[in-house]
Amino acid sequence: MKTPIRMGKRDAASTDSPESALRERLYCCGVQRLNVIRSRRKTISLDINYRNEVTIRVPYYTDRNQILQFVEEREDWIEANACLIQEKQAEAERQGILTEEGLERLKQQAARLIPQKVQYYAAQMGVSYGTVTLRMQKTKWGSCSGRGNLNFNILLLLAPPEILDYVIVHELCHRKYMDHSAAFWNEVKKHIPDCTARRRWLSDNGMILMMRGQVYRR
Ligand SMILES: [Zn+2]
Repeated sequence: MKTPIRMGKRDAASTDSPESALRERLYCCGVQRLNVIRSRRKTISLDINYRNEVTIRVPYYTDRNQILQFVEEREDWIEANACLIQEKQAEAERQGILTEEGLERLKQQAARLIPQKVQYYAAQMGVSYGTVTLRMQKTKWGSCSGRGNLNFNILLLLAPPEILDYVIVHELCHRKYMDHSAAFWNEVKKHIPDCTARRRWLSDNGMILMMRGQVYRR
């Protein structure tokens, strides 16, 4: 399924703006929307999100040609990323976008399974923890606060069970080390010897899971 190109208000801007000059070129690459944001920053930055929206942040008084040149130099990068995001979106649609009922089922499964697994691994590792909160998050799979309160993304239930186990152990290891130091990773490996492969799975497939939950559209 091809997502229709959404036209923002800025499309009506004068043909002289960097937006209108860039829009046509970038939309050909699969970019859905372009935002140029001027602020009190010193450098230009460029970012593309899950929705294939490109945001260019520039200092207030940046010359139009400077912006155009900055983007031109990065056009291959933008095109490659826009293409990758479209592929991931297609894969998410192939696997199935969650319906409201599907999401409800996932929440219930998560509420049954995650606290149980946390309890199991915490006992095995000899660590304590606070509350366990389940959420649907845009970017995070899990987190652990200084007080030991744990957050987990319910979309983890869409991943193979060993991935959920890895995220739980990862967060519980933060009860021993609040950083990602070598000591922290050694601790993770003690409980999940193939943690590297599981991390790789998440970084390869994570965006697809988020897209199946359509978190980025909410
Ligand atoms: Zn961590």
